[in-house]
Amino acid sequence: MELQVLKKLVVDGNKELPKQNLVKYSWGNVSQIDRQNSVIVIKPVGMPYDELTCGNVSVVNLQGKVLEGPFKPSVDLDIHRALYEHFPEVNAIVHTHSTYATIMAQLRRPIECYGTTHADYFNGTVPCVGELTEEQVAGAYEWHTGMAIVRYFQEHNLQPSDVPAALSPFHGVFTWGSDVWDAVHKAVVLEEIAKMAVFMHALQPNPEQLPGYVLDRHYHRKHGANAYFTNDDYGAGMVTR
Ligand SMILES: [Zn+2]
Repeated sequence: MELQVLKKLVVDGNKELPKQNLVKYSWGNVSQIDRQNSVIVIKPVGMPYDELTCGNVSVVNLQGKVLEGPFKPSVDLDIHRALYEHFPEVNAIVHTHSTYATIMAQLRRPIECYGTTHADYFNGTVPCVGELTEEQVAGAYEWHTGMAIVRYFQEHNLQPSDVPAALSPFHGVFTWGSDVWDAVHKAVVLEEIAKMAVFMHALQPNPEQLPGYVLDRHYHRKHGANAYFTNDDYGAGMVTR
């Protein structure tokens, strides 16, 4: 992929976060990796979304060294790097503190599948991964934050493509996908299902989960070899897809 095309994708994907009400101020960041050319494009640290352009977005190599861009890359770069290094099928990552998903993360409670909206996008529970040790927080904090997600998926034999999201305890949410628009789409959907879950818990502390056979049907009609509901609406601004 041409670097200019990748930059434009990442700039537009970042600007979609405030439009979708997923972030306040400059919280949150989007990146995409070009595995062929070994570069990652990511939002610079603290950059307001409306000031982000193809001229100031950060381009780094896989080790995190800045190749282009006048500012430091997002402080969360090493979280993105840990995920890219261990999830080879993931090409784009979104991080937000979107309210309802973050409520669940702060409760350290996974988002269980209560309905078909969830099942259309996530093949089961969206996990809240393990907490870091005091040493990990004091050390390479961001790298360990990413590795906590990687470890959870490895230990639970979960495929990142089956459940393209995770809650980071006390912190926020990460989603991923095949490209920026796929990952942003997942972030929007995740916030909606988190909102539904928070209201459900308020009305009924331990709601029943969606029966497995309904979950399977909904997930597999949109994913995998036998999918037949594949014309997805990726939302306004997502026409570059
Ligand atoms: Zn964060």
